[in-house]
Amino acid sequence: MSTTVWRNGSVWISAGQSTHALAARDGVIVAHGDDALALIDQAHDVIDLDGKTLGPGFGDGHAHPVFGGIETLFAPVRGHDTLEHLLAAVKKWADENPDAEWVRGEGYDPSLAPRGEFDAKWLDDIVPDRPVVLRGMDYHTAWVNTAALERAGITGSTPQPIDGDIAMRPDGTPMGTLREWGAWGMVYDLLPPLSKEQQIIAVQAASAAFASCGVTWAQDAWVSPETLDAWLAGAHAGVLTFRANLAWLAEPEGKWRDAFPTFSEFKACVDREAPELLTGGTIKFFADGVLEGGTAAVLEPYCDCPTSHGIPNWRREELIEAVAECVALGFQPHIHAIGDAGVRNALDAFENAIAIHGTANNPIMAHCQLVDEQDMDRYRELGVIANFEPLWAQLEAEQTVLTIPRLGQERADRQYPIATLLRSGAKVSFGSDWPVTSPVPMQGIGIAVTRTTDHGVGPWVPSECLTLDEALTAYTYGVAVQAGETQAWGDLAIGKRADVVLFDTDIHSVTPFDLRKVGVLGTWLGGKRVFG
Ligand SMILES: [Zn+2]
Repeated sequence: MSTTVWRNGSVWISAGQSTHALAARDGVIVAHGDDALALIDQAHDVIDLDGKTLGPGFGDGHAHPVFGGIETLFAPVRGHDTLEHLLAAVKKWADENPDAEWVRGEGYDPSLAPRGEFDAKWLDDIVPDRPVVLRGMDYHTAWVNTAALERAGITGSTPQPIDGDIAMRPDGTPMGTLREWGAWGMVYDLLPPLSKEQQIIAVQAASAAFASCGVTWAQDAWVSPETLDAWLAGAHAGVLTFRANLAWLAEPEGKWRDAFPTFSEFKACVDREAPELLTGGTIKFFADGVLEGGTAAVLEPYCDCPTSHGIPNWRREELIEAVAECVALGFQPHIHAIGDAGVRNALDAFENAIAIHGTANNPIMAHCQLVDEQDMDRYRELGVIANFEPLWAQLEAEQTVLTIPRLGQERADRQYPIATLLRSGAKVSFGSDWPVTSPVPMQGIGIAVTRTTDHGVGPWVPSECLTLDEALTAYTYGVAVQAGETQAWGDLAIGKRADVVLFDTDIHSVTPFDLRKVGVLGTWLGGKRVFG
């Protein structure tokens, strides 16, 4: 038996409930306050909080941890503020890796080119001899060079995919920007698979990133057979230090019909191979794309392209049918929906599943960026969990340069109705969408309570700001609700798992603006220290 006591600080049990000490035995919380202090004599480990806050480990309700880890394996294209710096980073990696058959990079900033349209020729100038494929930080857009277009057989006469867009130059040749999986999948399908060693490194990097910011559970919102291999390799190698639920990607155009039976096999494989750390009970759908790329499905056309309503990746009827089948097989549906038309299609699909099966298995809608007024109450009525990435609710370049010109001001100011949905009685959970954006929950919480950028721009639609306790709850208990695991974790009640995070300050004494800077000193998973 192993007992840990944390004392002499502020233990945030759940919203409105705090104490000064916590005790855990064999990975389970057994006592609060003075009862916890009474166990100090038998404790193997006594942690002095020194006035700082101890809280429940965070859940990340929507992330791509393996993609985040994979980024560390390839050209570092993230975080460059000019096109020249980005190109220099690609050239440097290509020069240093002469044997790599492909030059690959993940996470460039799509606002570095007008309308997010990048030309293959800019890459040809620095890497003419090998295919280059870079993916934008939204993971919905790719930029490739001419050699990659040639390998994939993409020419001026390639038909536009139904679930994607091949950007064309005025002369009718493909430009090099490929939007959505339907377009860049043609290139990505050609990439060599990761080695086992690379898979383990990726999971290790993801574990390190999450442990350092207090995340102890995550929803992987897009798992392919290759990512499943990586998860299992990481778990078997002992480098995985958070728990995760895996969501299998359902694809439209009938491909899901053959895939669903294999998802049941994947789930059984996960249950058999890594039951302590992994579950696999969810299926992921993309109802649409992203607003900044003009691919999110919108009810009214885009301002900069009055003929375009975006790209619903699924025909509405097929989405409805596939979600009902997902529920019939016992899986939880997790639908990416960003534009107000994508949101409506997703709600319709959940409503239909409930009408047929009496339940939609705890349905999740991720992102919920633009919701029509008429659909707002349907989240509560249908029991749909609204999963938000709160870090996005600020006026950054992605909004001011790309999204707002496409949406117009009226729609722009209705984005991310987090408080409206929470106060309507809907269930709300938070996530990061890492590596699309930072995995650090306290950064997202800092934005959720202020909707103000690091440079002080904001608050953007102040009525949508949350209180600190509301935001903490959405990033902890709200995600446990989404996982269907509130009996096991989500707060620090007695009997729950000792998934715990120690902050570097008393978070309730920090100004709202400074919450984003709060650091983490320690993270425990089931009572075992995994960071600090
Ligand atoms: Zn995502």
